[in-house]
Amino acid sequence: MIIDTHAHLYDEVYNIDISNVIIRAIKENICNFFLPSLNIFSLKNIIHIETMYPEILFSMIGIHPNYINIKNIYKEIDIMKKMVNKRPFIAIGEIGIDIFNSKSKENINLQKKIFKIQIEIAKEKNLPIVIHSRNSIDIVLDILEKNYNSISGVIHCFTGNIDQAKRSIKIGLKLGIGGILFYNKNLYKIIKKIDLNNIILETDCPYLSPVKGKRNEPFFLKKIIKEISKISSLPINEIIKININNVLNTFNLYKPLFYI
Ligand SMILES: [Zn+2]
Repeated sequence: MIIDTHAHLYDEVYNIDISNVIIRAIKENICNFFLPSLNIFSLKNIIHIETMYPEILFSMIGIHPNYINIKNIYKEIDIMKKMVNKRPFIAIGEIGIDIFNSKSKENINLQKKIFKIQIEIAKEKNLPIVIHSRNSIDIVLDILEKNYNSISGVIHCFTGNIDQAKRSIKIGLKLGIGGILFYNKNLYKIIKKIDLNNIILETDCPYLSPVKGKRNEPFFLKKIIKEISKISSLPINEIIKININNVLNTFNLYKPLFYI
């Protein structure tokens, strides 16, 4: 049993073949999928697809830093606060900071503020957080270290160095590893050095495909697991076993959600 902890399966690129995408994954034992939210509007699509496959898809709620709309952000936060009280979510995500380009740098102070507000919601509801930290891992870690002793969640698509990996783990976070592994050789060193109990697996599909030029989908998680097995010299089954425990602990689940 494998869980893809970060899959944008509600993206329109899957509109025509979502059932095949899910069947292909399930055939490889990838049976549960956590869906990260981008903003309150994306939630509509997430909840729609979740109701199509309620046993295996699990929604997050959150506002991604690139999707902060200055005009209605506080209205969205209010809706978010109401929603988390109305129905279950697997996590608050994806939330964080993005300073990838000059445009995303412009509202950095607002990003920090919205990030903190959403962490407070997570703490209140006892939910883990799924963090987006493109080009901003030090800023994210500074905020967390200054304001929170310990926090449960994951630095999704971790691309930091070993020092940043250790800082993340110390706070209580896991490192989300996916297709980027095939483009970032630095991650090899990190996987060799840290305890695999600190890693959880994700695809971030349809982005970051491990196969260049191909649309990413949960099925490719098998490829990522194989690569981690090679790097760590541990058998594939062991990687899967460690990962399922990590996911269950991080997302406060006590047993796998659904077996096929
Ligand atoms: Zn994502």
